[in-house]
Amino acid sequence: MHWCGVRNCSNSTHLADFEAKRPWYLSVLQWECWDECDHYCMWHVVKVFQYNGLAIPQFHGKWPFYRVLGIQEPASMLFSVLNGFVHFYMWQKFKRKVPNCHLNSIWNTQALLSINAWFWSAVFHTRDIPLTEKLDYFCAFSMVLYSFYSLIVRVYCSHKSGLPLFIAVPFLSYFAYHIYYLSYIRFDYGYNMKANIIIGLLNSCGWLMWCYKYRHKRYVWKCAVSVLAVNLLLLLELCDFPPWKFTIDAHALWHLGTIPVPLLWYSFLIEDSLNEMKDLGLYDSSVKKLC
Ligand SMILES: [Zn+2]
Repeated sequence: MHWCGVRNCSNSTHLADFEAKRPWYLSVLQWECWDECDHYCMWHVVKVFQYNGLAIPQFHGKWPFYRVLGIQEPASMLFSVLNGFVHFYMWQKFKRKVPNCHLNSIWNTQALLSINAWFWSAVFHTRDIPLTEKLDYFCAFSMVLYSFYSLIVRVYCSHKSGLPLFIAVPFLSYFAYHIYYLSYIRFDYGYNMKANIIIGLLNSCGWLMWCYKYRHKRYVWKCAVSVLAVNLLLLLELCDFPPWKFTIDAHALWHLGTIPVPLLWYSFLIEDSLNEMKDLGLYDSSVKKLC
C-alpha cells in the first residue's frame, strides 16, 4: 500500500490527477486516494493468496467484499434497507389498525428507533468509517435497550400514567453513559458486545416469560416466535466465514434473516393492543373507536 500511496497520493499533481479520474460515486462516498490504494492492495493480496491456494485473509478485521458503486458491503447494505422498509410498512399498518390509545406512543417510538437503526446500519455497510461505525453501534444498542424498556412498560403500565416516563429515567441514563464511555473514554468492542448480550438476553428471557404467562392468548405465539427467531439468527454472528463469492458473509445472512421478523412482531403488537384495549373497556368492536 505504501508504494501505491507514494506514487499516486504524495503530491498535489498526483492528487489532482486522482480526483479528476475519480468517478462521482467514489467522491460522494469519500473514497480518498489512500483509501483507494488500501482497496487496490487488498485485492492484490487476495489474488496472491488465491493463486497460492491459501485461505482468504481478513483486512483490518474485515473480509474482502466486491464493491458496487463505492458501496463496501452491498448485500448487508441492501438487507439493512429492506429491514428498515419492512419496519416502516408494518408501522403504518399498526397505525391504521390500532386506535390512538395508551401504549401506542411506546410502539411508535420503537418503530422510529428501529427504522433509524436500520438506516444507520445501511450507511455503515455503505461506507465503514469511525463515525458511521459508532452511529451503527449506538443506534443498534438503542433498539436492544428500548425493547427491554418496552417489555417493562408492557408488564407494569396497563393504564395511561406517568409511570413509563419514570421507568425511562434509568434507561436513558444508562444509554447516555454507554455513548459517553464509547465516544470519550474508549471505543471498547468487548464492552459493547457484553452490554448488547446482557440486555438482549434479559430482554429475550423477559418476553419469553411474558409469553409463557399469557400463552392462553391466541396471538402470543407471534411474540415468542419473533424473539426466538432473532436469537437463533444471532447465532450466525458466531459463524465467521469468508464471504460467498465475495458478496454474502454470516453478517449479511443475519441481516437477511431479520427482514421477515417485523411482519410477525407488528402483527403481535396490533392484536395485543386491540386485546388490551378490549380488556380495559377502551375498545368496542361494534363502535370501533372509543379512545
Ligand atoms: Zn450490520
